[in-house]
Amino acid sequence: MSRDRRFDILFEPLKLGPVIAKNRFFQVPHCNGMGHARPRSHAAMRGVKAEGGWAVVSTEEVEIHPSSDLSPYVEGRLWDDADVPALALMSQSIHEHGALAAIELVHAGMNASNLYSREVPMAPSHVANPASYAPAQARAMSKSDIRDFRRWHRRAAIRARQAGFDVIYVYTGHSLSLPMHFLQKRNNRRTDEYGGSLVNRVRLLREVIEDTKEAVGASCAVAVRLAVDELRGAHGIQAYDEGQEIVAMLAELPDLWDVNVSDWSNDSKTSRFAAEGYQEEFVRFVKTVTTKPVVGVGRFTSPDAMVSQIRRGILDMIGAARPSIADPFLPNKIQSGDVDDIRECIGCNVCVSGDYTMTPIRCTQNPTMGEEWRKGWHPERVPERTGDDTFLVVGAGPSGLECARVLGRRGYTVHLAEAGDQLGGRVTLESRLPGLAVWARVTDYRLHQLNMLQSVEILRRSPVSANDILEFGATRVVLATGAHWRRDGIGRANTDPIPGFDLSHSVLTPDDLYSGAAVKGPVVVFDDDHYYLGGVIAEKLLGDGFEVTLLTPADRVSAWTVNTLEQHAIQKRLLEMGVDVIVNNNLIEFDGSSVTMACCYTGRRATLPAASVVTLTSRLPNEDLALALREVQSAVDAAGIVSITSIGDCLAPSTIAAAVYAGHRYAREFDRALDDSVAFHREMPGIAT
Ligand code: ADP
Ligand code: SF4
Repeated sequence: MSRDRRFDILFEPLKLGPVIAKNRFFQVPHCNGMGHARPRSHAAMRGVKAEGGWAVVSTEEVEIHPSSDLSPYVEGRLWDDADVPALALMSQSIHEHGALAAIELVHAGMNASNLYSREVPMAPSHVANPASYAPAQARAMSKSDIRDFRRWHRRAAIRARQAGFDVIYVYTGHSLSLPMHFLQKRNNRRTDEYGGSLVNRVRLLREVIEDTKEAVGASCAVAVRLAVDELRGAHGIQAYDEGQEIVAMLAELPDLWDVNVSDWSNDSKTSRFAAEGYQEEFVRFVKTVTTKPVVGVGRFTSPDAMVSQIRRGILDMIGAARPSIADPFLPNKIQSGDVDDIRECIGCNVCVSGDYTMTPIRCTQNPTMGEEWRKGWHPERVPERTGDDTFLVVGAGPSGLECARVLGRRGYTVHLAEAGDQLGGRVTLESRLPGLAVWARVTDYRLHQLNMLQSVEILRRSPVSANDILEFGATRVVLATGAHWRRDGIGRANTDPIPGFDLSHSVLTPDDLYSGAAVKGPVVVFDDDHYYLGGVIAEKLLGDGFEVTLLTPADRVSAWTVNTLEQHAIQKRLLEMGVDVIVNNNLIEFDGSSVTMACCYTGRRATLPAASVVTLTSRLPNEDLALALREVQSAVDAAGIVSITSIGDCLAPSTIAAAVYAGHRYAREFDRALDDSVAFHREMPGIAT
């Protein structure tokens, strides 16, 4: 196929100062938990993006000096010449595919922990680190500190050019950099020429842009990433106030404006809280005050939406972090007319959790993300079949779907049997809950791919028993039968069943709600799971008209969603909707009309009226089939079945991302020789002598 003419504008080259972007697809900076610690993994991941057609591929934040040490977070690092080779590895792998390499130089100022370097953090004025409760403060910078910072930035820009970068960023975004801290009234209380009026607060940013242009501007484009609105009202920079004035003051200075909203949780809103293109209202003024190219983001996955951004004069380049993670080949798929093959980001922010947990990036939609170097996985290419095995995959949740897709792509004959009418397992069920509709893309993408594979047959309404498997005739069986929520209350807080849970029909699990069980109010949602679902169910029940209390032993609602940047938004939404939130309390008993709770610190008890309890504590694998097959091993052997393997939630319940990964991994690796060696390459620290 060839590209739809409607999308031609996305493939027009664009001049960025002294360099030329071959098209309008720009992978903006994004963290990945690999950075300076795993340079080969990092280089390979960015190289795959370049191969997938992005005209510009950027690093994440790259620390320019030991006083900007973001440890324990793993970001890029360019403290001195010793860091150049690792970054050169990345620029080379980008250049191999004809893309431009961009680097986001950062001095994190008061946001730097400096836990590794033990330098004293710096800020425009004396201030506590806003990003942690650490008992440490940043010191106010003297004029000589400002001169030092400018010199460090200039040197980093020169080193970045040596490392092969074509676009050098001055980073003023997310409230995570010194030039931004100088812009902010709340952090800049200086009385010298760097504080007070906006002209004075902009001075440092202007100087750093000028320094960078002077140092590398002849051969590199200088980009500014600016958060034009902090979404803090009058307490922060606002687009149609100082945001606009800042861009106007510096309008023609950089070669490229990369504009967004701050902080990171506002910039990378999940699909639960924002739709595609959600930043337009804040950034649309930018092109009216500068003639320089403008790039912006908005979780763009639809080529029509992208074209519209350019045609309507909002953006010149389509910026993407998450859409490029979910599908590194997004530009090439538009180019080749394969738009339906785009693996669209679902906006879940599991990718962000890699940075937050200081481990390599993972993606729900793209299980190869982060595995490009260490496992040699490619998002679009799979190894050819190595034998004549035939497969029966039982269960068409995310794990079974992905497993069947990759086995089919490898050329194997696969039957995918699903007990129910619908495919997609838990994703399909959860995507019907408030705010999660976009998650259905996990199923949609895979079904579309499966429908194009001749060698895969999907059998719906086909509950599979152990006998069915023995008679089926497949040489390999994959069990992807999922999991169910426990009804007895056992989880993190209660290691024994909760008294009363066994007696009452009024104790419901999410599975009961999916199958339409009757709920009586008032309802207590007991959330000892701590990811998104408890909060989503509270929201749904409130929407259904019930009086709802969310009770959790954690100190906040949906505690793990701190790692997906949503926790604050979830708790705010539930409180504003009228859900009663009780934290730091465990549910210890239910008598059919009330629950008894106990404070996690003091043990002090209290009761709450509850006609129903919805319990989310932990899940149990659906392992009956696996256990039944284990009982008949000789019949399994006699049937010529070489292997029976449980994958995804039916092995151990986890995230949707983990289920997809498990399906993908099985399909790639089932025919690998098993031994005790580590299943992936590791990057070992060099021991210099
Ligand atoms: P995972 O996240 O591991 O993919 P899910 O719970 O989302 O798991 O999906 C499991 C799927 O397996 C569900 O759609 C369920 O209906 C199906 N399933 C479970 N047991 C059987 C069985 N014995 N035969 C066929 N399908 C099954
Ligand atoms: Fe999108 Fe989720 Fe993948 Fe991140 S992890 S890129 S939000 S699908």
